[in-house]
Amino acid sequence: MPQTPTQSQTPQPPKTPTPGRRQARRRRRKRQRLILLSAVLALTVLGLILHLRGGQTAEGGDLPPDDAPAILMPLPDGHIYTRIPVIDAGHGGEDGGAISVTGVREAEINLQVAVKIDLLMHFFGVPSVMLRTEDISLHDPSAQTIQEKKRSDLQNRAATVNGIQNAVLLSIHQNTFTDPQYSGLQAFYTPAEGSKALAERIQSTVKTSLDTTNTRLAAKAREDIYVLANVNCPAVLVECGFMSHLEEEKKLREDGYQTKLAAAITASFLQWEVGVNP
Ligand SMILES: [Zn+2]
Repeated sequence: MPQTPTQSQTPQPPKTPTPGRRQARRRRRKRQRLILLSAVLALTVLGLILHLRGGQTAEGGDLPPDDAPAILMPLPDGHIYTRIPVIDAGHGGEDGGAISVTGVREAEINLQVAVKIDLLMHFFGVPSVMLRTEDISLHDPSAQTIQEKKRSDLQNRAATVNGIQNAVLLSIHQNTFTDPQYSGLQAFYTPAEGSKALAERIQSTVKTSLDTTNTRLAAKAREDIYVLANVNCPAVLVECGFMSHLEEEKKLREDGYQTKLAAAITASFLQWEVGVNP
């Protein structure tokens, strides 16, 4: 840009911005970087989901075909994930949670989905943590009755989350209802800052990429859910689907569908995280 004589005569080179201009430029660059990161993440996730969708076999299986396109996996340039997703596979051990229409324990599906989220998070360079990696209850050895074990298990889960700096709780559950007509994933959030945005992000990613018929909205979590009520970080509980709905229950048991669920949840976390920590 041509310089005016006045500018060239000033002792400071005109290219050196004033602190105010420098800040504005930094903000502009930050904004541009954020837009770029979001676009890269959205494309990555879309690629991943399309890849997984392409894997549907005639038998209803989910093995990727041999000619499946390679998944584009560009990592956000220079972005460092400082939030730690703590993945809580609900229930476990003696507490199997809900029982599906075909007799499968909720705890089992929760763990299968949680493991897939953990793998995807690590794939993206996010240092996620799992609260349980086996079919166990996390109670203290001193707990005797089922009630004591349940209480101790929940207290220990909340304490572990609270002991992790920059934690973000992702609690994975499956829903059930007496009326078998209800289906669809729903995300629940706590009053903690960021929780609602994350739950809404999950809900909308699921609607656009996994289940276009899902009209559910992210909702406030009940206050009597112990782990959610007792953690001091952003927290979201995902009810991945209804085990009381015949077709959805079948999908929830499938490895491929669980991977899609995990991809949608992971993608939502990545996008939310970049927005929170640009
Ligand atoms: Zn549950």
